Amino acid sequence: MAVERTLSILKPDATRRNLTGKINAKFEEQGLRIVAQKRLHLSEAQAGAFYAVHKERPFYKDLVSFMTSGPVVVQVLEGENAVAKNREIMGATNPANAAPGTIRKEFAESIEANSVHGSDSAENAATEIAFFFSGTEIVG
Ligand code: GDP
Ligand code: MG
Repeated sequence: MAVERTLSILKPDATRRNLTGKINAKFEEQGLRIVAQKRLHLSEAQAGAFYAVHKERPFYKDLVSFMTSGPVVVQVLEGENAVAKNREIMGATNPANAAPGTIRKEFAESIEANSVHGSDSAENAATEIAFFFSGTEIVG
């Protein structure tokens, strides 16, 4: 299995409740390494562009508003099979369906305020990492 990188975001509901360390511990305990990390307050334009793939969905406006409601922490996670592994650690989008021990099961407030984002494919991971980080900001 190849070493991969994936983009992770700790969402405003997580930073508001001071959960950065607890969530980062889940990644590290399960073999993912945080090779880049910064705290940002996304503009509406940034959040809208990042989630452009969802712009026709009924929840798009609310999602952009939520993602700009407070600080986020954007990260690059590295490890074996990192894209799929991070999706496993995160759990299902809707916390009601998330498996025990996952971040969303333990911490998410709702289907929208679900604490974390993770890229869903290696191709999207490359695009999403480049959206937030330059090459020199990632230190493996
Ligand atoms: P993810 O890849 O598991 O994050 O889920 P999606 O890519 O399908 O959706 C992106 C984000 O939009 C989710 O993480 C939620 O924050 C939000 N979202 C997804 N589905 C819904 C929904 O049905 N209602 C609301 N309000 N938000 C949603
Ligand atoms: Mg998604």
